[in-house]
Amino acid sequence: MLVQTLSCLPQVLAREWKTTASIQRYSLAEMRSLLREVFRTNPFYKTKLENLNIEKIRSIEDLSAIPFTTKGELRKAFPGAISEGYTPEKCVHESTSGSTGDVLSIYHDPFACSYYDAISLREYIGLHMWPWYKMSYIRFEPQPRRAFEQIGLLRKYYIPVTASAEEQLRLAQSHNPQVISGYPSSLYEIARIYREDSVSWDLKMILSNSELLTDSMREYMESAFGCPVYNDYSSFELHNIAAECPFKSLHIHVDNNIVEIIREGEQAAPGETGEIVVTNIRNRAMPFIRYRTGDYGALDEEPCPCGRGLPVLKSIEGRKDEYLILPSGGHVSPRVFDPLDSIFHQYVSKFQIIQERKDRFLIKVVREGNYHDGVTDMLVKEAKRCFPQPIEVEVIPVEDISRTGRGKLRAVLCEVAS
Ligand SMILES: [Zn+2]
Repeated sequence: MLVQTLSCLPQVLAREWKTTASIQRYSLAEMRSLLREVFRTNPFYKTKLENLNIEKIRSIEDLSAIPFTTKGELRKAFPGAISEGYTPEKCVHESTSGSTGDVLSIYHDPFACSYYDAISLREYIGLHMWPWYKMSYIRFEPQPRRAFEQIGLLRKYYIPVTASAEEQLRLAQSHNPQVISGYPSSLYEIARIYREDSVSWDLKMILSNSELLTDSMREYMESAFGCPVYNDYSSFELHNIAAECPFKSLHIHVDNNIVEIIREGEQAAPGETGEIVVTNIRNRAMPFIRYRTGDYGALDEEPCPCGRGLPVLKSIEGRKDEYLILPSGGHVSPRVFDPLDSIFHQYVSKFQIIQERKDRFLIKVVREGNYHDGVTDMLVKEAKRCFPQPIEVEVIPVEDISRTGRGKLRAVLCEVAS
């Protein structure tokens, strides 16, 4: 796999500097090639794409002719979701977190995995993460070692997300890494302790993933760790979707995943928020074509000053099931409560905002030593100010806040049936 990764790496590295139009032309041609094969070999898509004229797909707009695919459909179609000629033994197997019990088994074509590795190397090289750097990563379970890690490059050390923040920091310091990767909720807890730590540590960067990273959370961590924090966006199904460059623009890896933003069933204009729908153009074993991710975001019309031609995701607004319900109907992004972060940073080590009813929110807080009654009043007042319609807010102190799924902490949660 390493040979395959290295053989495609020069092209992968060169491609990001081409024009957006040229990269998109290349990606659409790759997608047509995948669709032709899938049409012949994949039982699920053979039926689904029966009336599609693949050769007419020449632009992102033309993708509208292809029906969406959902996780539920793929789960139901299994094993028909796997293309002929691929057996589970020949593929790399993963599964989605399934926090709501909807686990999906995913099979990746080994060649696709080599390509994902090349894209990861492009992300790392772009951020000046050098091969001799060590990385501590905080996750629910250890990740399989990638081909380039097996020969000693970018050595990775596992830290369980279930360990206490003190233990996570102790483990990270014992690895003495230049890079720490993890969920922002874990990194934030570590940053709070690290801020008080007198040990000098030559950290070069922090990589945040898998949960929403707010601007104030990023600023707090950058100040505590004394190094930049970069965000990326990927999933078990699709792997590398987008990653930040040194300018902190979230560039979409369109040569791996073609991204559309869908609003009310149609492609949204740049800047408009909608569901992120992705077509992976690499995995021929178990294709994901116009796959509904359930994540919400918007495209950016402005090119990034770094000069990369890869288009930019302006924002990621959270998952569909994290969207809050307005008392008058309609939905609003969990990011409406971002301004509360500055209060949390001063007085709280963990927090969770729960919409219990359309007009009532509960804020759970794990208090720090300097927490006082005035903080409760500030949180209630600020939460009411942030939300676009009148609400009741109650703040309750708790000992801890449990993590869900694979160790993620959902900072904002909607418990109201929509
Ligand atoms: Zn950039």
